[in-house]
Amino acid sequence: MTSAKEYDCIVIGAGVHGSFTAYELAKRNKKTLLLEQFILPHSRGSSHGQTRIIRKAYDHDFYTRMMEDNYELWAQLERESGVKLFRQTGLLVMGPENSKDYLNFKDTLEKNNIPTVHLHKGNFSKHIPNVTLAEGTAAMVDITAGVLFADRALKTAQDQFRKLGGVIRDNTMVTNIQPGPVVTVTTSAGVYRAKSIVITAGPWANRLLAHTGLQLPLEVVRINVCYWKEKVPGTYNVAKRFPCFLQTENKDTDEHIYGLPSNEYPGLVKICYHNGSPTDPDQRDKVTDRSDINVLKRFVSNCFPGLVPDPAVVESCMYTLTPDRHFVLDRHPAHSNIVIGAGFSGHGFKMGPLVGKLLSELSLGEMPSHDLSPFRIRRFQGHAKAAL
Ligand SMILES: Cc1cc2nc3c(=O)[nH]c(=O)nc-3n(C[C@H](O)[C@H](O)[C@H](O)COP(=O)(O)OP(=O)(O)OC[C@H]3O[C@@H](n4cnc5c(N)ncnc54)[C@H](O)[C@@H]3O)c2cc1C
Repeated sequence: MTSAKEYDCIVIGAGVHGSFTAYELAKRNKKTLLLEQFILPHSRGSSHGQTRIIRKAYDHDFYTRMMEDNYELWAQLERESGVKLFRQTGLLVMGPENSKDYLNFKDTLEKNNIPTVHLHKGNFSKHIPNVTLAEGTAAMVDITAGVLFADRALKTAQDQFRKLGGVIRDNTMVTNIQPGPVVTVTTSAGVYRAKSIVITAGPWANRLLAHTGLQLPLEVVRINVCYWKEKVPGTYNVAKRFPCFLQTENKDTDEHIYGLPSNEYPGLVKICYHNGSPTDPDQRDKVTDRSDINVLKRFVSNCFPGLVPDPAVVESCMYTLTPDRHFVLDRHPAHSNIVIGAGFSGHGFKMGPLVGKLLSELSLGEMPSHDLSPFRIRRFQGHAKAAL
């Protein structure tokens, strides 16, 4: 018999990945505790905000294959909860013709038979009105893509977890982790023990891993989340199925940009730069660098004539980047009952349901249902080190 403070598994961090991992464990009848340092919901990590892009278009095959399962798992959660979480809009992918990044996206879509419409100067504005395709830019649409209602999705995963008997303790900061056959987790509100733990602490991952003798090569950056006003309300509206878009990296113009149709703030379109300035996660709002906004202003005035080229609202969020921009989904190298989900590098939300499943499989000592070799800690070789 386990006592009140003993669990099969403790998940640390109630962002998208911790919430889905806890939910998966509860589905498997595991007594699970989900710990969160802030009062839920909060906007101080990486999973807040009302929208995220979901897409099969990727520059690596393994992500596109993972997305096949994710679409099914998102639909399953919608069915189980009765909550609408996804709206299909398509994703416009633009990039310099013949650039490596753009061609990688194209190859992956083709290889995986993802329904795609290829656009050219002659048919572009018929499919995508009110957007200017720059000279030398190629374009295609991943039809399967769309918008995930992010805040709602996070709450739904947490609600489903609770319905299955899972326990969430928010306003509870983990202050120490003592590895062992039974892991001891010390928090601001008491001590808990579990056969295994999963660390999904987003930008704070290394701070927690320090207690376990490990540091990963993670860089935390602040993202300016910019919203741009439509000159004529409704021009780029989600209800009219204006697509999400993604501009593959353009090293000449320094552009690496994505956007979503207006939804959360009527009349405002979210367009962001896919990188930011390094920050300590607790000092996020002290970063004042807005050089990315100048790149965005130029892009908006060149490509989106229906938007005022000055952001109407700027919010903040954080990415936790790995050197190769691939996730970390692995067991701790020295403690196999400590599982790590980290480094989601600004593209992890859509993967939440499958990441939760994979992390729960790792924590139960099972063979993961996808090949996790791109996500192993050992790829960092000399860069993952013992904590000081
Ligand atoms: C502006 C922006 C746009 C994005 N757009 C997309 C997109 O369109 N599509 C997409 O797929 N992805 C997107 N992403 C990426 C995606 O949102 C992230 O990859 C994902 O949310 C990461 O979730 P997480 O659970 O790892 O981290 P988080 O959401 O940060 O969760 C970690 C949690 O751990 C808690 N925690 C940390 N330390 C402790 C502790 N000591 N004790 C207790 N709790 C602790 C934190 O408070 C936090 O709640 C975007 C991200 C940003 C910032």
